[in-house]
Amino acid sequence: MNNNDSFEAVIGLEVHSQLLTKTKMFCSCANVFGLEPNSAVCPVCLALPGALPVINFEGVKLAVKAALALNLNVNRKSFFARKNYFYPDLPKGYQISQYLDPVSSGGYLAIKTGAQAEAATEGGNEKKIRINRLHIEEDAGKLIHIGNRSYVDLNRAGTPLVEIVSEPDISSAAEAVSYLKALREILVYLGVSDGNMEEGSFRCDANVSVRRKGDTKLGTRAEVKNVNSFKFVEKAIEYEIERQIDLVLSGGKVVQETRLYDSKENVTRSMRGKEEAHDYRYFEEPDLPPLILSEEFIAEIKNSIIELPEAKRRRYVSEYKLGEYDAEVLTQDKDIASYFEGLIAANESAGCGAGAHPEIKKLANWVINELLSELKEREGESSELLAPAGFLELICAVESGAINRNTGKAVLAEMLSSGKKASEIIKDKNLAQVSDDKGIEEAIKQVLEENPKELLDLLSGKDKLFGFFVGEVMKKTKGKANPKKVNEILKKLIDEKKA
Ligand code: ADP
Ligand code: MG
Ligand code: ZN
Repeated sequence: MNNNDSFEAVIGLEVHSQLLTKTKMFCSCANVFGLEPNSAVCPVCLALPGALPVINFEGVKLAVKAALALNLNVNRKSFFARKNYFYPDLPKGYQISQYLDPVSSGGYLAIKTGAQAEAATEGGNEKKIRINRLHIEEDAGKLIHIGNRSYVDLNRAGTPLVEIVSEPDISSAAEAVSYLKALREILVYLGVSDGNMEEGSFRCDANVSVRRKGDTKLGTRAEVKNVNSFKFVEKAIEYEIERQIDLVLSGGKVVQETRLYDSKENVTRSMRGKEEAHDYRYFEEPDLPPLILSEEFIAEIKNSIIELPEAKRRRYVSEYKLGEYDAEVLTQDKDIASYFEGLIAANESAGCGAGAHPEIKKLANWVINELLSELKEREGESSELLAPAGFLELICAVESGAINRNTGKAVLAEMLSSGKKASEIIKDKNLAQVSDDKGIEEAIKQVLEENPKELLDLLSGKDKLFGFFVGEVMKKTKGKANPKKVNEILKKLIDEKKA
């Protein structure tokens, strides 16, 4: 590890994110991952002569939604441009993109730095990473290499993308990951992208340079292409920073080039230098009109933007008085967050009846500790089975002492698998907690009678046996006895016997 503290890293990220439209960006072919190769193609995306592109406004909507969420200015008039290069997965010989006048520019994304960049813990600082632009473009197809042959699948050709270009405001691999996670979370929350990194729906090029601390001029950057997981982005950047510092220290110079990350060897390797860099010969796309967006269109999209995860987190802490960890867990998934908010609403309106309303912290515990772990075990099966009001009924049953906590957990599992209501299950299985003193006293007396030896030992001072008797009583009542009551009454009976 190179610990040369006199250097600092400067990083700018270019992210490509697929948009969740039904059809491609400029034709009506399906935008679906994993179809049979070359089954979702047409004259437009195959670039047959005479075929003309048409702008998919669903794609524009999603791009504008992302732009607004990332604090970018949406340009009322923007242009599509041709980015020319030759590659077998690019039938037209150019990609439709945006160049001089993109759909949006000049935004930022606030990220957590320090300890919070790695884990959701309390504290941590915020840093604004400026975003230079977000523009719309189309994806290329895919090359598949099998043995010594290469195949072309053009299903992806023409599918919608946004490219989001950050300013070089990122100073470490951890910050880069923090930025990418926050960005991905927002896009997924808004339904702009599925964020699937394995399928390439969300991918990143990292531009890395180093300079001596205090220098104002940027160093020469290398660009690491298409790294497809958070872990690899982190490793690739770390490697690259170290490589460049070593290079400079040993008297060498960083050259501007494109590099590829090899995750097996954990190194980056030169792919092409500046001399081989593409000259894309951009020019305005003659087959498409300028993209003109009305105030109404933009306002409508603005209104459709739901509360973003970071804002939710802050509100959960300030309004619901939850800890940062709870807020983090509850907001990671938009559906969980809205489920939790539904639970709070049910609690506020009806509550447990008779004016009883469990604290929000209790509701949060139930969701985090019980519901989420149950759902995790059942992977995939949704919480649809369980309306918030139904879950609240169960929580109320436990909080009021009608059933004990362990029974509550079992009832929850049963609710999720059978879809039955908590009250039905409690009634059908006769699970209601035995809280009446008579019933519990009866059970205790039986247990004492059945274990004369242990009773003698307890009376002669072996206090440890108290727990044994509590356990036996719980067994006898099939776990339904209120443990607090069992303790109280057992103590009373033993004291009487001792006296
Ligand atoms: P290109 O499209 O040729 O890659 P851009 O000027 O659009 O070039 O920059 C791409 C990315 O590189 C941006 O995210 C930008 O912040 C970043 N970048 C530019 N210069 C540097 C530098 N010296 N060090 C690190 N990142 C840089
Ligand atoms: Mg680039
Ligand atoms: Zn098509």
